[in-house]
Amino acid sequence: MDIVVLAGGIGGARFLLGVRALIEQIGGSVTAIINIGDDVTLHGLRICPDLDSVMYTLGGGADPVRGWGRADETWTVKEELAAYGAEPEWFGLGDRDVATHLVRTRMLDAGYPLSAVTEALCARWQPGIRLLPASDDRVETHAIVDDGGADDSGAGDVALHFQEWWVRHHGELPAKRFVFAGAETAKPAAGVLDAIAAADLVLLAPSNPVVSIAPILGVHEIWTALVEGPAPVIGLSPIIGGAPVRGMADKCLATVGVPCTAAGVGGLYGSRRDGGVLDGWLVDTTDAGTAVEGVPVHETPLLMTDVAATLAMVRVAVTAAGLVT
Ligand code: GDP
Ligand code: CA
Repeated sequence: MDIVVLAGGIGGARFLLGVRALIEQIGGSVTAIINIGDDVTLHGLRICPDLDSVMYTLGGGADPVRGWGRADETWTVKEELAAYGAEPEWFGLGDRDVATHLVRTRMLDAGYPLSAVTEALCARWQPGIRLLPASDDRVETHAIVDDGGADDSGAGDVALHFQEWWVRHHGELPAKRFVFAGAETAKPAAGVLDAIAAADLVLLAPSNPVVSIAPILGVHEIWTALVEGPAPVIGLSPIIGGAPVRGMADKCLATVGVPCTAAGVGGLYGSRRDGGVLDGWLVDTTDAGTAVEGVPVHETPLLMTDVAATLAMVRVAVTAAGLVT
């Protein structure tokens, strides 16, 4: 079975451990199309947080407690930068992690597309799945923050890079909306459209719907390939019992005016029959009774406590697609 997964960083990485486990059992392939909206250049280094979270996690090199960055990390570079007063100081840049960014930046500067750079980095990590950035072009998530002025003309609004809004300000500055700069003209990365066309199943990981999945779906040709493609599209809710399992998806959903519920996120993705993308929606058993117009809803435990639990979720998603494992 050939499975395509749309995913963000930490939630996406955990989910992909379960998808990889299924394919190890039944055979086939996994292609993960990863959000690049969080990518940022700091201290001259190109940093791709979601690609790295997935690569390190599947390659066995992620810090299990933080969920991002490298295991056995040290922070000398960060301390030395701080000693120089080099901004920004709020971004966690570990020493081991820096090596990844140095290799990536050097290859990008030499003219390789991000998809080729990712493949080269994965030669070391052997994630056991194919990792693709959503695009080789720039797609950058910005939070549009109110200037606090009395008029709502938008004249004084400020666009913050997502990392600044999320990491520096902890998502606490009220955002009016998110913009995926570049998404409309960005082309899918090499391999993305072929993978979707060849897929037996497409899964939307239980990643942040607003700032992880939406920037991927915002690449026009990816959206078209999914909604017009042959493979069933099944999504899994990142919201359980009205709250994100971890992270700040509640703040992001509030910004786009979507209730922080499994039904709200399912409705945001929408039924493929009425202009959305979903053919099926998985919600946690806590959210039994959830209804999404035009979308069959399936209830099953959605806590990714370990690989076995995640594998069980993936099996339910496969069944929901009308496929057998
Ligand atoms: P990020 O890019 O690192 O923020 O990670 P993602 O966007 O891939 O994943 C973040 C989302 O994963 C959050 O909205 C969480 O609610 C969700 N999440 C984390 N752990 C779990 C879990 O065990 N089960 C489910 N259903 N969602 C989870
Ligand atoms: Ca992310």
